[in-house]
Amino acid sequence: MPGKLLVIDDDTAERAALKVKLTSAAYEVSQTGSGKEALRIARRDLPDMILLDNTLPDMSGLDLCRRLKTDRRMAEVPVIMIGSRNDPTARIAALEAGAEDMIARPLDDLALLARIRSILRARGVAAELALREGTRQALGFAEPAGEFVQAGRICLIAADQGTAGLWRRELMDRLRDRIEICTPAQALREAGKVAPDLFVIAADLSRDGEGLMLLSELRSRPATRHAGIIMAVDSAVPASAAMALDMGASDIVSLPLDFTELALRLKVQLARKRQGDRLRSRVRDGLQMAVTDPLTGLYNRRYAMSHLARVRERAIAAERSFAVMLIDLDNFKQVNDTHGHTAGDQVLKSVAGTLGANLRAVDLVARIGGEEFIAILPNILPEAALKAAERLRAAVCASPITLPHVSDQTGPVSLIQTVSIGLVTGGGPEETEMSLAELLHRADKRLYGAKKRGRNRVCVSASGRAAA
Ligand code: GH3
Ligand code: MG
Ligand code: MG
Repeated sequence: MPGKLLVIDDDTAERAALKVKLTSAAYEVSQTGSGKEALRIARRDLPDMILLDNTLPDMSGLDLCRRLKTDRRMAEVPVIMIGSRNDPTARIAALEAGAEDMIARPLDDLALLARIRSILRARGVAAELALREGTRQALGFAEPAGEFVQAGRICLIAADQGTAGLWRRELMDRLRDRIEICTPAQALREAGKVAPDLFVIAADLSRDGEGLMLLSELRSRPATRHAGIIMAVDSAVPASAAMALDMGASDIVSLPLDFTELALRLKVQLARKRQGDRLRSRVRDGLQMAVTDPLTGLYNRRYAMSHLARVRERAIAAERSFAVMLIDLDNFKQVNDTHGHTAGDQVLKSVAGTLGANLRAVDLVARIGGEEFIAILPNILPEAALKAAERLRAAVCASPITLPHVSDQTGPVSLIQTVSIGLVTGGGPEETEMSLAELLHRADKRLYGAKKRGRNRVCVSASGRAAA
């Protein structure tokens, strides 16, 4: 089922006709003719969208819309109002009451269905983001409320400079956002940098339909994919509105523009863009957390293993060599036993910092176990890898770690921590055959060798030949 719709209209014939259209588009439809009944059904069924006739016997459509929008559970359910004629004042009143849009009778099926699809699509994306955000919150990472709201950036693209100038002047009287004028070429070029939050684009520019092509270009580019895009279409051609919505327009206005209406729609789109940006950045942070080790801030085992797989594949494809080191702290249990677990944690953090500071930017170091790290070095020859391992070992050993207050009895304590390293250099013809598991197994064997030989040393296995 693509969605659950509630149709509210006191005219039974109109209602039945609408239901047939929507049902044949595979929507699940419930219907009623009274406002009171509508509130009851809406609360019970929580529909995905409400289609609302403006005149009802027991209350006005506007009143019902306002009541729905102030009900916490239903505030997010989109409402399309249906008016008796194409009247800008009624449309603005509907938008102000919180409706997504007002569509005039006689209903154009194509335009109505495109509108419904576009609203449900936007809702699907928002719900998906909110779901992931919910997971994050459940893990205890809630955002502090009340963020400072910055002015938005709006870009206008009209058929000619004069028209764009007029749009800009009219909007500047009504909004406090930054409003720019640009050409389609500039819009696409700009898109590589910091993109505007919103675009207003005329469907027909120097050629008919050029604005629509720009719309789909902007939607396909990473920087502008999430921008709010309002298309200005010729009201005499309802098919172009439907097409624009299906091509990903966030909203539609008809030409000639009513600037009060456009300003209202821009405000709604800007609020939505902000909410989307916030959710997306929190989801990104959430993903970041899923791959990081909270103690040291390094990547975790999961990330390291997928990174290693990529490094290996690329090395094989480019016939370059790479190296892997397993790095284990020596006699670390003693640190815990002597100074306590908190001190142990500090030692882990300090060693992690030393390892990171002594590798190249392209190298990756991750914590893959309690006191075990991995370093993955792409594009490196075996001799250089051995030098790097030796440099890491020496750097850790040469960095005394100060523990501020290990216990009440003692003052600050300084200790030397050492590491043993098992190194495998890969990328030769034999390594191409070597699986990841085999690679790690060899590194582990070398690490064990380094421990057996007295710790604080590097053991290397190159092309399957072991060497100290
Ligand atoms: P070896 O030189 O043979 O590696 O000896 P070791 O003591 O380092 O190795 P062993 O495996 O016997 O002990 C590892 C210790 O690391 C035991 C465990 O308590 C400690 N450890 C593991 N994870 C953490 C951690 O997150 N914090 C602290 N403080 N200790 C940890
Ligand atoms: Mg150890
Ligand atoms: Mg260990």
